[in-house]
Amino acid sequence: MTDPPTVLRSSGAIPHAAPNRPQRPTSMPSPPNTGAHRSWGAMRWFEISPGFACNCRCSGCFSCSAEASSQMDWPEVQRWLRWGRAKGAQHLWLSGGEPTLRRDFFKTLRLAKHLGYQRIKVQTNGMLFSYEGFAEKAVAAGMNEVNLLLKSLDPKVHDALNRTPGSHRLLQEGLARLNHLPAATRPRLEGDILMTSRNCQEMPELVRWYSEHGLVHFNVWLFSLVDQGSRDLRRLVPRMADCRDALMAAHDVALAHGSTFCSLNTPHCAVPPAYWSMQFDAAGMELAVVNPGGHVFMLETSSIEQGSFVAACDRCAVRDYCHGMRSDYLEVHGDDELQPVSAEDAAGFDPRGSVLDLP
Ligand code: SF4
Ligand code: SF4
Repeated sequence: MTDPPTVLRSSGAIPHAAPNRPQRPTSMPSPPNTGAHRSWGAMRWFEISPGFACNCRCSGCFSCSAEASSQMDWPEVQRWLRWGRAKGAQHLWLSGGEPTLRRDFFKTLRLAKHLGYQRIKVQTNGMLFSYEGFAEKAVAAGMNEVNLLLKSLDPKVHDALNRTPGSHRLLQEGLARLNHLPAATRPRLEGDILMTSRNCQEMPELVRWYSEHGLVHFNVWLFSLVDQGSRDLRRLVPRMADCRDALMAAHDVALAHGSTFCSLNTPHCAVPPAYWSMQFDAAGMELAVVNPGGHVFMLETSSIEQGSFVAACDRCAVRDYCHGMRSDYLEVHGDDELQPVSAEDAAGFDPRGSVLDLP
C-alpha cells in the first residue's frame, strides 16, 4: 500500500469534541496548520468508511450507496486498519454508510482493538443497537465510543429527514440499550446533529433531551448541498441568521449539562466572539479519512470543511483561523451575512476553536 494521494471525495461522516479551549488569551495564537503543511506522521485519528451501504436514506446524504464499488472487502479493511496504526494513528473512527450493517463489523472492532487503537468510535444512526445483545457484542469487540445521528425529537421530522419510517423509534430503543450497559463498559455517547431549516429552532431542546439521556458531546453540521447533483434540496439549507440564536442557546444548554458543543461549517462571524469555542478546528484533529476506492485525505482538505472566502474576508481579523463559508451555502443565501470581524472585537478571544476528540 502506498502513501496516500491528495484527495478527493469528502467523507459522508458527520465528524466529535472537546472541552473548549480557554478564552481570552493574552495574545493572538499562531494560525492553525493546514493539510498541505502537515506530515502524515502527525496523524492521530484515522477514519475508515468501509462502505456506503445504509439502512436510511437521509435527505442530503451523499454517502449512501449499496453498489459493490462503494464497499471495501474484509481484506481491504484489514489493510487499512494496519496502515493507520503504522502511520501513527492512535484512535479509530468507523463511519460509512452505516458501519453496523457490515458483516465484518464485529471483526473490524476486534482487529482494531488488537492492533492497539485506543478510542474506537462508531458513527451510526443507532438503529441496529435496538436489537437485543448488539450493543453488548460491540462493546466486547472493542467499541468504546458511539456517535448517534440526531435529527429531531419529533419522530415525524426525524423519520422524514431520514426518509426512513421507524428510524426514530429504533434510535430511541438503541440509545436505551446503550444506556443500560454496565457503567464500566458503557461507551462514551456523542450526538451528531444535522442542522436543516426543519430542525434548527429545535436544537436547544434536542441538546437538552439527549444530554439528559447520556450524551456528553454534540457536533452540529450545517446541511450541505455538496455533491448533491441535480436534486433540489436548497430549501433545507438554513440561513445562518435564522439559526444563530438557536445555535448559541444549544451551546449554552450543552454546557449547563456538563456536555461540550461544536459547530462545524459555520464561520466565525456566524456567532459572537464569546462563542468561538464552539468553532471546529478541523486541522487540530489530525484526522485522515479513507473511503471505498482507497481515497485518503486529511479532514481539513475535504469539500465539506473547506469554505470559500469573499471580498469582505480580506478585512477580517480572524481570516487565518476561519474556514470560510461553504460555496453551496453562498449559492443559496449569498454572502451578505459574512461580515469581517474587527481586531477590536476579536481582542481577548481565542479564534482557534475546539477539536473534537478531547474527552
Ligand atoms: S444514516 Fe443517513 S447520513 Fe448516515 S450514512 Fe445513512 S443515509 Fe447517510
Ligand atoms: S468575514 Fe470571512 S474570514 Fe471573517 S469570519 Fe466571516 S467568513 Fe470568516
